[in-house]
Amino acid sequence: MFNLILFGPPGSGKGTQAEKITKKYNLHHISTGDLFRFELKNESELGKAVKRYMDKGELVPDHITIKMLNKKIQSFKDPEGFLLDGFPRNEAQAESLDKLFQSLGTKVDLLLALDVDEEEIVSRILNRAKTSGRADDMDEDIIRSRYQIYKEFTQNVFGYYKKQNKAKTVNGIGEIDVVFNRLCCTIDEHKS
Ligand code: ADP
Repeated sequence: MFNLILFGPPGSGKGTQAEKITKKYNLHHISTGDLFRFELKNESELGKAVKRYMDKGELVPDHITIKMLNKKIQSFKDPEGFLLDGFPRNEAQAESLDKLFQSLGTKVDLLLALDVDEEEIVSRILNRAKTSGRADDMDEDIIRSRYQIYKEFTQNVFGYYKKQNKAKTVNGIGEIDVVFNRLCCTIDEHKS
């Protein structure tokens, strides 16, 4: 199994790159943001419980997120590997992921962080807001606050995996295919 975490601030291109990487390397794409948005759309109990956090761009409480993620990962029979996008977002989530993978006899192999600066992030997300229909994309203050949450809580996850020698940074600025090539080169280097 090969398990990859695609990491980086909101709007850094994780979703776009995740689709391309999962196709090329035969991985299951698991985006906690997409899973939550699916629940919101269906107005499920879970959707109702997370809406107020998501609309404001705040992190959903760990016990809810971790339970959903564990259930999703355990639902696959004999997976070749996972690409996680939007998870883990803090150290507690990273620890719980390590435990889950350990119980399944596997591990995180690599974390790839897309490096994109705040002004580029704000401009990309405001542009995405024209079509995404996401409440958390519409308002510049909410976008900046999501970026601050990333800096304050989520970036520690990079250090957590860096200590295990598993974290790498990739320049996230440039054409989609150029960034994709950079990511693939780093994955192939790691695998060889
Ligand atoms: P983005 O990366 O553009 O901020 P996501 O789709 O990854 O968007 O996440 C959207 C929202 O979903 C987050 O702002 C948060 O409210 C919730 N969310 C997603 N993943 C997590 C997570 N791992 N922990 C807590 N909340 C999460």
